Amino acid sequence: MTIAENIRMLREKIAVAAVKSGRKPEDITLVAASKMNPAERVREAILGGVDAVGENRVQEMLEKHGLGAYEGKPLHFIGHLQSNKVRQVVGVCDLIESVDSETLVAEIGKRASALGLTQDILLEVNIGREENKSGVLRENLDKLLEYAAQTPGIRVRGLMAIPPITGNNGKKPNYFDEMYKLYVDITAKKYDNISMHFLSMGMSDSYIDAIEAGANMVRIGSAIFGARHY
Ligand SMILES: *Cc1c(COP(=O)(O)O)cnc(C)c1O
Repeated sequence: MTIAENIRMLREKIAVAAVKSGRKPEDITLVAASKMNPAERVREAILGGVDAVGENRVQEMLEKHGLGAYEGKPLHFIGHLQSNKVRQVVGVCDLIESVDSETLVAEIGKRASALGLTQDILLEVNIGREENKSGVLRENLDKLLEYAAQTPGIRVRGLMAIPPITGNNGKKPNYFDEMYKLYVDITAKKYDNISMHFLSMGMSDSYIDAIEAGANMVRIGSAIFGARHY
């Protein structure tokens, strides 16, 4: 299967899940999670019709960016972001999906303001309460939202999560449901400066469950590019 064929098949399945959950196929943003795939393959995914490209590692992203890999589509940062790398990401990425602390919000806001721009971000939630995993715990989310709402140079566009892999025991969709509930609750609270547009969750093995639970952004790697060889 070529990358374009994989994307065509994914789009069909995404469309079914979207309609099943009362949305239109085009309401779902398909992000190609491109880590470890060279610029030519990222180009293939863009030509194949993904909506955006996501990268995990700053250095790898900058190299591919320099090769023009992302031209024509939004670039998302989806990996763990260290404060000392913020300046290399702000203004290069259209959306930073993995923001999980006041320190990061402050650094991103400072850098964006210095560049005279507003950086769109998602707040990453550690919905499975996993130790050593990125993301804010849900009980700290309101505080982080309030902080982000007051930070110049920042615009929060929604939430992101990477729920734990729990096998096929039916548990994983519950995390997606919990995320959707958080997303709806925050929307209802109407924070100043915060517009909840995106709920980013679901990967190659879970995007159908995620969409059916209310995700409108999925990050898909191996189902587009094939298995990664570390
Ligand atoms: C790699 C990655 C994905 C995609 O994973 P696949 O299982 O290959 O679809 C999604 N989100 C993040 C944050 C990733 O690092």
